[in-house]
Amino acid sequence: MKSLPLFTVLASAALASSGFAADGKSLGYTTTPMIPGSKWHVHDGDRPQPKIVTPGTESTQEQAGTAPSDAVVLFDGKDLSKWKASNGGGEPQWKVENGYAEVHGGDATTKDEFGPDVQLHVEWTAPVPGVGSGQGRGNSGIFFYGRYEIQVLDCYENPTYPDGQATAIYGQTPPLVNASRKPGEWQTYDIVFNGPRFKDGKLETPAYATILHNGVLVQNHTQLTGSTPHQQVGTYTEHPEKGAIRIQDHNNPVRYRSLWIRELKPVDSGS
Ligand code: MG
Repeated sequence: MKSLPLFTVLASAALASSGFAADGKSLGYTTTPMIPGSKWHVHDGDRPQPKIVTPGTESTQEQAGTAPSDAVVLFDGKDLSKWKASNGGGEPQWKVENGYAEVHGGDATTKDEFGPDVQLHVEWTAPVPGVGSGQGRGNSGIFFYGRYEIQVLDCYENPTYPDGQATAIYGQTPPLVNASRKPGEWQTYDIVFNGPRFKDGKLETPAYATILHNGVLVQNHTQLTGSTPHQQVGTYTEHPEKGAIRIQDHNNPVRYRSLWIRELKPVDSGS
């Protein structure tokens, strides 16, 4: 495709942001009714244009997916420079080779913090052969704010308590269905996590999680009742709106490859 001169591109972008198309015509309407609760008319051409994002590539069994252009890449199969060991702050002792990182020697935590609303993409695979049973087989986990666990577990022909299955809000809500692949096959989690909001030390809005497991919806805007401890009922205690992502070492050599995260901004925020 022939590329457009830069000034044409810039002029088009400027026109779009001012509510006019390149031919000078309005992009929408200002004679239409107002959308209730907003400052925009129905089909308002002056409303901020959504930011342009270049999508990444889908993963296959052979190939890790790649991140969209506005994501923070947490791990691309090469190094763990975005991570620290949870038990000391140094480099995680996980084994990095062949485009994946294998859990070893403790949890890993992101150096940066994210929130309160994020989209997290995770690719992982359970150990082969599937050794152990129940919670002892291919167990890991994705923790938001260090306290809300989305379970990672080899749940292929491996029964366990439902609120501890893969993609369960651990100890709270089982997945809608079990969409697990076999051990050794790469699996994806796409998690939209809305962190809780606190005001004056009290919970104002609880956390919610929406999760696709291998492309199948398994958590549909599920409300969290608090943190996710083992054998106890979790509670909410105030924490900042941004937090690190932690991946659990449960003494099973689960492997991870493409990991990326996007902070979600409200519509019309212009960013
Ligand atoms: Mg776990």
